[in-house]
Amino acid sequence: MRWSRSCIPTLKENPHEAEIPSHRLMVRAGLIRRLASGVYTFLPLGLKTIVRIESIVREEMDAAGCQEVLMPILHPIEIYEESGRIENFGSELFKLTDNRERTFALGPTHEEVITMIARDELRSYRSLPQCLYQILIKFRDEIRPRYGVIRAKEFIMKDAYSFHTDDESLDEVYRVMERAYRNIIERCGLEYRVVEAESGYIGGNESHEFMVLAGNGEDRILSCDCGYAVNLERAAARPVEPYVGEEPCEEQYREVETPGMTSIDEVSTFLKVRPGDLVKTLLYRTGDRNIAVLVPGDREVNDIKLVKIFDDPDIRFLEPGEIEELTGGPVGFSGPVGLPVETAIYADMLLKDGRMMIIGANRADRHLTGVLEGRDFKIDQFGELVRAREGDACPRCGKPMSMSNGIEVGHIFKLGTRYSSRMKATFLDENGESHPFVMGCYGFGISRLIAAAIEQHHDENGIIWHPSIAPLDIHILPVNVSDDEVMRTAERFETGLQEKGIEVLLDDRDLRPGVKFKDADLLGIPLRLTIGKKLKEGRVELFERSTGEIEELPVDTALERILERVGN
Ligand code: ATP
Ligand code: MG
Repeated sequence: MRWSRSCIPTLKENPHEAEIPSHRLMVRAGLIRRLASGVYTFLPLGLKTIVRIESIVREEMDAAGCQEVLMPILHPIEIYEESGRIENFGSELFKLTDNRERTFALGPTHEEVITMIARDELRSYRSLPQCLYQILIKFRDEIRPRYGVIRAKEFIMKDAYSFHTDDESLDEVYRVMERAYRNIIERCGLEYRVVEAESGYIGGNESHEFMVLAGNGEDRILSCDCGYAVNLERAAARPVEPYVGEEPCEEQYREVETPGMTSIDEVSTFLKVRPGDLVKTLLYRTGDRNIAVLVPGDREVNDIKLVKIFDDPDIRFLEPGEIEELTGGPVGFSGPVGLPVETAIYADMLLKDGRMMIIGANRADRHLTGVLEGRDFKIDQFGELVRAREGDACPRCGKPMSMSNGIEVGHIFKLGTRYSSRMKATFLDENGESHPFVMGCYGFGISRLIAAAIEQHHDENGIIWHPSIAPLDIHILPVNVSDDEVMRTAERFETGLQEKGIEVLLDDRDLRPGVKFKDADLLGIPLRLTIGKKLKEGRVELFERSTGEIEELPVDTALERILERVGN
């Protein structure tokens, strides 16, 4: 393509709404333009990258034995009532009415639609397993769209759904899909982790997320050198060195003065103990019950696990007034001793060691030391309540794990019969008996992957594309377009390369060299052929964006060398 007649609107300045490099660079390099919050146009170069990613995805899905289909975007709302997912989606589901007042949703994902297809069209065990996929725009009314195409209201997803007679068959296809996802991400040249994950509102049993590592990623991952990785939301907190508390002694607990000390740090410094020796008591309300949650002083509660344990997304902290009323003491001095019997006491597993506890006394400026569970109060239930942290032990090998940030680009789930049972989608087995399909589903964010790739590979001058997903293969930069010899040579290379199927951008704009080189760095096309002053001596320059290396080539043999470099 010729730059002078292409829509590649590069910008010198950072767009003010962009918070992270990938968003800034996608706008500045002319890949995307914003129409509304979370809604973007992909301009020619942006679309070229999408097409390349899509073809990698298609190759891998086809190789994994999946078949491509295309499902509608408009979904009659009743199908979400049938699956019971309408509440789960809540306000994220875009709804609209047609001119006969029928309500439709814009597809956020397609479990319902595909389950209906399977119900009607896949009848016998003989035709299973099958895996169907599509590449389509999805709609989600994200509460906080941000980071450009990373969290958008409409985005391109590849989604696949598999149907099985039993769990063994699902396990097998799940492993094949995991391998296919790894291949896709590796072919895009990205560093990633596969993590154990929560299945969220899609529901089901086992699930794994594919995280592209990037400092600005919204997801936090704990990973170990042994290959294990887990989403922080789901990780269990396991100290490498188990806690050794004070031996329990016969004495009663003691009340000590801790004037004005409401924080763990203040109390532990004052009492000359480690923060982890204290026990934090957090008071919550779920429904019409009050709950006390006990965790080691140096740990934080994992809110996501709490919501799951109590099956209550609206669980909340008690207000200061409610705390006074319940415990008789002010905020910052709560403890489990003497709470009303109807207040259930939950404690994290890390407290299951029979330690002597230091806790709030439910009285202003007082703590209790030497408190023993069983003797002084009773814990109703132990559970995994605290958030894991860097340095916690790997559940596979016991070594300390490290924390990184990632951007989720793919998510695979074992759904089991979650949808097929509710939607009565069944097949007939060899004895003519009907059973609900066992299902898997596999999502991949194609538009999000572009941003993740740029987030992982850029520098202060611009994008650094991996050749497999770069919008174009080579950028030809004639320094002075009014020099006939220079332009003729540039055009010769353009034709020669195009004949070999190489995609070329020829910067034929009559602009200052400085501007053209800056733009070339910003676009980040893997190879750049500069045709400048050295042409007089019969030489051109081949520059590699990722390494900054320059190779000087004789103009006569340069074409062959370039073809070698792009692997043709
Ligand atoms: P997230 O936790 O980031 O909201 P999700 O769990 O809702 O993701 P899935 O429903 O599993 O995502 O969707 C599959 C894939 O679609 C995700 O792995 C991600 O790559 C992509 N995706 C999801 N939501 C968005 C969005 N709002 N904008 C762009 N891509 C998205
Ligand atoms: Mg989401």
